[in-house]
Amino acid sequence: MRDAPIGSRKRVSGLSSILLVVASASLAAAIPGTARAAELLQPDRDRLERWVKILAAPELEGRRGEGARRTAAMLVEEFGRLKLEPLFGDQYVQVVPSAPPANVEGRNVGAILRGSDPVLRDEYVILSAHYDHLGKPNGVLHPGADDNASGVAMMLEAARCLATAPEPPKRSILFIGFDLEEAGLYGSRYYAANPPIPLEKVALFITADMIGRSLGGVCDGWVFVMGSEHVPALRPWIAEAAENRHLTIGLLGADLLLLNRSDYGPFRNRKVPFLFFSTGESPAYHTPDDVPETLDYATMTEISRTVHNLVERAADAPSLPKWSDKVDHPVEEALTLRDVLRVMSANQEALKINTAQSFLINRTLRTLDGAIERGRYEPSERAGVLQAARILIMTTF
Ligand SMILES: [Zn+2]
Repeated sequence: MRDAPIGSRKRVSGLSSILLVVASASLAAAIPGTARAAELLQPDRDRLERWVKILAAPELEGRRGEGARRTAAMLVEEFGRLKLEPLFGDQYVQVVPSAPPANVEGRNVGAILRGSDPVLRDEYVILSAHYDHLGKPNGVLHPGADDNASGVAMMLEAARCLATAPEPPKRSILFIGFDLEEAGLYGSRYYAANPPIPLEKVALFITADMIGRSLGGVCDGWVFVMGSEHVPALRPWIAEAAENRHLTIGLLGADLLLLNRSDYGPFRNRKVPFLFFSTGESPAYHTPDDVPETLDYATMTEISRTVHNLVERAADAPSLPKWSDKVDHPVEEALTLRDVLRVMSANQEALKINTAQSFLINRTLRTLDGAIERGRYEPSERAGVLQAARILIMTTF
């Protein structure tokens, strides 16, 4: 997840290719290449956990600078191992040129799983996650286990399952690890401005950023999904993908976050249908405490399986819903916000909620209860509710 925009950063120096190969080979070797056939079909909890531990290991230095390069090399190796085609001509890597104000060069890593249908293979579903993190600010390692080793682990597991499925997908699927997300979405912005495949051919863009903890440390078992306001017909797909899982889906409009806070931003700006999955900011957000030991791997597995299922369905469906400029904010969003506020209310002590915040929560809950009872969520009500939710998120978490 991207924080506030940052200033200039040191340009990263080159890294010995031998070191790259050795480091990535030894790390990737920790992921076993064989498993029982049934386990190949959906993201596996142990593999997810192993990837998070590899990506958040001190050797990758918080995935900035040389650590980011080593991570990129590891993604290249994994895409190659899965026999996926390179996305950028004969390369898996797209160099993101250094530009002000960040002044740091980056590397997007992407691969194609070619679709089998003679017509649909020319349409694409993108599954992405940013792999960069904060490095070692003031010499202190920020491992970024939730942000965003969790999302990358999900993407790699989904890629493994889809690449080894008995039947290839009908549409083509792109897997992309974006760099420089933390520096202001530079990796995904560069990609969207310089796509190897025209964005008009992208039927759906999915990204996950932070799927290993919980909002405020209290919304356990939840995942928030943004973007369905532009493609409401995807909502039943999301619900069906999550069916019978220990998971609560919270639909939200992306405008709850005033800025584009993750890699969906450049695609949203270009009207590419998108879905953004996140469990939200936890108390460990952007701190050295974002370590693998504290992630909720059970929920992360459920989220990964939901996303995998959704990608598979989107790749095989005869047609996909198109982007709509007219946003649709359903009463489900009011339910999501109501339930989150109720959880906050029930955890007042842990969250150190003061009298003013408590007043705001109760007032907002009354508005939401009214809307839910009527089954209609007026735009004016929603504006007030979102404003209150933003204040509460900013001041509480
Ligand atoms: Zn972040």
